[in-house]
Amino acid sequence: MADQYDYDLLTIGAGSGGVRASRVAAAHGAKVAVAEEHRVGGTCVIRGCVPKKLLIYGAHFAEDLKDARRFGWNVPDCDFDWPTLRDNVLADVDRLNTAYETTLTNYGVEIIRERVTVTGPHSVRTAGGREITARVILVAVGAHPVIPDFPGNEHGITSNEAFHLESIPKRVLIAGAGYIANEFAGIFNEFGAKVTLMNRSDVILRGYDAQIRDRLVNISTAKGIDFRFNATFQRIDREEGGHLTVHMTNHDPITVDLVMFATGRAPNTRGLGLESAGVELDANGAVKVDADNRSTCDSVYAIGDVTNRIQLTPIAIREGQAFADTVFGNKPHRVDYTFVPSAVFSHPPIAAVGMTEGEAKNTLGQVKVYTSDFRPMKNVLAGRNERALYKMICDGDSERIVGLHMIGPDAPEILQAAAIAVKAKLTKADFDATVALHPTMAEELVLMR
Ligand code: NDP
Repeated sequence: MADQYDYDLLTIGAGSGGVRASRVAAAHGAKVAVAEEHRVGGTCVIRGCVPKKLLIYGAHFAEDLKDARRFGWNVPDCDFDWPTLRDNVLADVDRLNTAYETTLTNYGVEIIRERVTVTGPHSVRTAGGREITARVILVAVGAHPVIPDFPGNEHGITSNEAFHLESIPKRVLIAGAGYIANEFAGIFNEFGAKVTLMNRSDVILRGYDAQIRDRLVNISTAKGIDFRFNATFQRIDREEGGHLTVHMTNHDPITVDLVMFATGRAPNTRGLGLESAGVELDANGAVKVDADNRSTCDSVYAIGDVTNRIQLTPIAIREGQAFADTVFGNKPHRVDYTFVPSAVFSHPPIAAVGMTEGEAKNTLGQVKVYTSDFRPMKNVLAGRNERALYKMICDGDSERIVGLHMIGPDAPEILQAAAIAVKAKLTKADFDATVALHPTMAEELVLMR
């Protein structure tokens, strides 16, 4: 296809979305290059979902080994060797990084291992000064952790660095109370650190159902995690010996060994030159796009976290697929953003799809709520006093399910299948008509009252 341009498609950013878009466009016959300044794989593979989930698995052994004794296993006192887990996880990241590169190469996509900046509607310049032209430019540069601005903030790390720590700190302060904060609170706590989670507001996991969030706070507190709410940073002092003393509003100062910021992520558009192509950004610096991922410049598209729609890997992948099929495959389609399931890999995990009880009441007026509040069988024998909670939110008249919310062991694994039923607009009666699969935790989905 390329004629007056070097490429049909130049993708900036080889994360989940950029890789999918590039390889599908290439499969449709386009001449494609992808520029990546870090490592192919992006946030999810290199410093996000994948290594995080492996740490979650690692952290779970702390409880499993303890519980095993109640199941008759003679488990000697075990200790945890962080460098072993860290290095094995990083080796797996290397494996995936290579696999992603191989995929791109197999599809004939050229990898440009340099930062590029946009210089016009059809052109970019590499850090080395090479000018490259393309009929279409796809911006898939993702987002980066935001660090609040206050004195001493340079002493903290973000989740990017957490995967490379020399050792597990004894005391950790995590700032923020969203996905990353709660997931890492669980990880550090299971590895033996004293964890304090501080947030500027008095809620965790804004957007999730209130009852489910309360349950996580209760269980986390019982596990030894401290919460400090309505706390804003004043300063961090580095003490002799390397400890950090954190001063904050409404609470006493706290001395810890590590501060980790998990205070949201912002699009990577600064210094990208998008203004030279007339690409407009929103107030948060995200690329403004239409339903077909097209920016305010006709030849520039954007997908994934840089567009600030839903910051989830499977969404970026779908956007990349839709973009490539629409622009290069003559098969136009759009991403459906309704009933997107999500999960927080906290200890225990949360999973949800659709409206919370509050949202449903505000939107639909009449709603019916069914719950199951139970202690999983395994927890009972283990002597683990942790209850799971499932909530089903139904439209009052039809009893169509508009939301499902769960906290408990394996909740994300269970919800994925149930989300199909919610997406398919099934009703409470449809769930009730399905025979329970006994004994499981998932059977609670068809036994709710
Ligand atoms: P979140 O948006 O989940 O949470 C941000 C937290 O930081 C909130 O508690 C927020 O407080 C607080 N905060 C925001 N800005 C500031 C500030 N300037 N000063 C102090 N506190 C602040 O962000 P994360 O960083 O945890 O994760 C980023 C995104 O990555 C998520 O939104 C999610 O889309 C994605 N992600 C998904 C995961 C998954 O699917 N399991 C796992 C990890 C990340 P407040 O509540 O007051 O607004």
